[in-house]
Amino acid sequence: MLKSFRKNAQNRSSHTVALSEEALSEDDDLTLRLGLGRFAKPEHLEAARATVIGLADRERWLQCDCSKEQQPIMVPVRGERATFRLKEGSADHDVECDFARPPGYQRSINRSLSRVEGNINLGSRRARPPSRPRGIRQRHSHSAEKRSTLARLLMTLIDRAALNRLELPRRVRDQESQKFVWRRSLSLSDQLAAIRSAANGIEVSPGIQASRFLKTDTAYFNDLKDSLLQSRDEFGDYIPFGLMLFIASHTDGNEIFPVGDGRCPIPCGNASVRVFGEEPRTVEQTARSPYIALCLISENASGDGMEVIRAYLHPCLHKGSLFPVDSNAERSTFKVIDKACEWVAGKQQGLSFDLEKPLFSLAPVEDDNDNAETCTFCCIPDFILHCTRDQQQENPLEIIIETMGFENDQNYSARKERTHPEMKMRTGIQHLLLHRPLGQNLEQENSSLLRRIGRIALKWGEDG
Ligand SMILES: [Zn+2]
Repeated sequence: MLKSFRKNAQNRSSHTVALSEEALSEDDDLTLRLGLGRFAKPEHLEAARATVIGLADRERWLQCDCSKEQQPIMVPVRGERATFRLKEGSADHDVECDFARPPGYQRSINRSLSRVEGNINLGSRRARPPSRPRGIRQRHSHSAEKRSTLARLLMTLIDRAALNRLELPRRVRDQESQKFVWRRSLSLSDQLAAIRSAANGIEVSPGIQASRFLKTDTAYFNDLKDSLLQSRDEFGDYIPFGLMLFIASHTDGNEIFPVGDGRCPIPCGNASVRVFGEEPRTVEQTARSPYIALCLISENASGDGMEVIRAYLHPCLHKGSLFPVDSNAERSTFKVIDKACEWVAGKQQGLSFDLEKPLFSLAPVEDDNDNAETCTFCCIPDFILHCTRDQQQENPLEIIIETMGFENDQNYSARKERTHPEMKMRTGIQHLLLHRPLGQNLEQENSSLLRRIGRIALKWGEDG
């Protein structure tokens, strides 16, 4: 919630500040979020502006509670396009806050989260210096931030290789022995082969297919560097580069450590490294391990050799799977969904389940316009469970399952309450279930999700 206070109450004793402080009414708070927040809607603009002008008339400023330490101060700005600006020297909003980004900038974030239709150009021309943010070891990477080109390439490869879909349950009952056995699933080498075929269709530099200089085994790191050196001319005006994709346990900023015995770490000391979901840090990053690592390899600064110049790490389900997840909380949700499918399969035969991890926004793309005053909601559900009847692929049952992180964050919960109805509308999926794996009562939460999935699927199965 936003708080308002008289602008000259600042810097006085805390007693005076307390006297002048007042919480904004819930209505006004919502009006401002809907009309001027990052996902501002045209129909709420006018009401939000009127509220801003009212605040300005009464010489009141606002304080946002999105950040625990220092609270951002918002100054109302009058005029035809009445809005807020951050007070000079004020703390920034949290990246997830409604007021963290103006709608125009949010549009460009949405665009970076949309599906890539054609090729992805990673190359830069020789004439221009390579875009390499030197000195930055770890860059923030977050679902509320712009997705980098390298991250977009990784998501595109996984999506086109269909590795963000998994048949569930993972354990099925063997007809003869009546015992549960693991379903035969794609081995890691088969998944990597699927990535290489998906790379066949994408040009990453004019005339160069991503697959030509893509290796999926770190043992070939030096071979890849050698072949890049030898093939420089093929890239023409563009700087040559290759790609290395593998499963990593972590990075310390100097090296990326592949999973597997006897694997040599990949040096990345001169590279810009992004780890999804992590704050920029130089300490070892293992919080969401394991990761799918995608490294971009190109000429070193002196131009006489090749090295990793950029890397992106995104968490995956486990070290044998390229199924992406965003967090450990999502890994917990995955397990419950799997159990629920197993439970339903035991009760009713003839249903098949397929879990999808959507990687791109399902909302329509708007043009990039930094001055835009509104922005559509960016719609990427955490999971969509698809259920079909055997021999009937049409009209599947679909259930959105959202993992709720940040259990005790009121703003987060309020935001989700607003976005979930919109998510249902955009996807046309009526079932949306929440899982709170970080709460006090994990067992109860898990069995509640399991029962809700089970009930919906069984009822759907019977109605068919
Ligand atoms: Zn804020």
